[in-house]
Amino acid sequence: MAENKDYYEVMGVPRNASEAEIKKAYRELAKKYHPDLHPGDKNAEAKFKEVNEAYEVLSDKNKRARYDQFGQAGVDPNFGGGAGGSPFTGNINIDDIFNSVFDGFDGFGGFGGSTRRAATNTPRRGSDSESSVTISFEEAAKGCVKTISYENVAACRECHGTGAKNGATRTCPQCGGTGQVRISQRTPFGVVQTSRTCDRCGGTGKVIDSPCPACGGTGHVRQRKSIEINIPAGIGDGQVLNVSGMGNAGTNGGHSGDLHVYVHVNPHPIFERRGNDIWCELPITFTQAALGAEVIVPTIDGRVEYEVHPGTQPRDIFKLRSKGIQKLGGRGRGDQYVRITVEVPRNLSQKQKDLLKEFESVGEEKNYQKRKSFFEKIKNMFGD
Ligand SMILES: [Zn+2]
Ligand SMILES: [Zn+2]
Repeated sequence: MAENKDYYEVMGVPRNASEAEIKKAYRELAKKYHPDLHPGDKNAEAKFKEVNEAYEVLSDKNKRARYDQFGQAGVDPNFGGGAGGSPFTGNINIDDIFNSVFDGFDGFGGFGGSTRRAATNTPRRGSDSESSVTISFEEAAKGCVKTISYENVAACRECHGTGAKNGATRTCPQCGGTGQVRISQRTPFGVVQTSRTCDRCGGTGKVIDSPCPACGGTGHVRQRKSIEINIPAGIGDGQVLNVSGMGNAGTNGGHSGDLHVYVHVNPHPIFERRGNDIWCELPITFTQAALGAEVIVPTIDGRVEYEVHPGTQPRDIFKLRSKGIQKLGGRGRGDQYVRITVEVPRNLSQKQKDLLKEFESVGEEKNYQKRKSFFEKIKNMFGD
């Protein structure tokens, strides 16, 4: 049905618009509503037709003049005649309009046929596999060798990954082995060449007459795999090792993916890692702290002897140089820091109590410097 449309409104231009302005508006609207950009959108399609109809009239000097004078009736022989249907629907040659406004399809800019999909028969790298391993604190510190078991996709041995029984494939007759078929399409922008994945071979370029029974024609089998990997010294909890080429098999002769191994390091009952340093606490008796003592300190290399100085205080820290963790991928090791805790004795016997009381009775101010300065500060505070 021919309704009375205002072509100027449709084009979004004033009634006195120049030819150039109309052309410019048309270019923009045609791009906006082109059906190629809105597949299946009836609204856009209708708009597109409307725009073309308006442009066909306004771009023609004579038609525009008649339209200005008589409205739609001036340019549409059927208008008001009850015949129904716009003269522009069905018989208008939109191609011609387009070709006159756009210099061929290329100038229109990269959509539709100019985009070419990657051929699916090109070699593709396999995806990466994942696995994890749990190691001890010491293993992480010094490095170790571990057997990793994981599931991955491998090329089928029976068909060498081709998916064909005995590996017998032949070149796809539909695409000649390219995996792509070219289609020429006449569009409002002119003839457009598009490539599509060949539906006969699914883009592989090869057809299989009888599928491999071992893999069901996929060319791949899932398998459980075990490999030994070197875990480098210094690896941290949560780090991921990449084992090149040990992932899933590629397709069309592409490389295998990688294996990612997530490393979990069990916490240690004594040691704590900070960077490449190891920290631990060492409980000593208050007599050892007061008198000094030879103590045994655990390290990841075994026990080492250490001389605790007389008068060692709780939370004093000493350092064992280069007893820390191997620097990952580098030379040298971190240090080990040992923090002293002084254990106050409990459950004393009567004899112990007597000895300590006697010890306390001969105590002097110089034995307790901290205590002395603390009470001096209090005196100053309260002005005593
Ligand atoms: Zn197979
Ligand atoms: Zn094909």
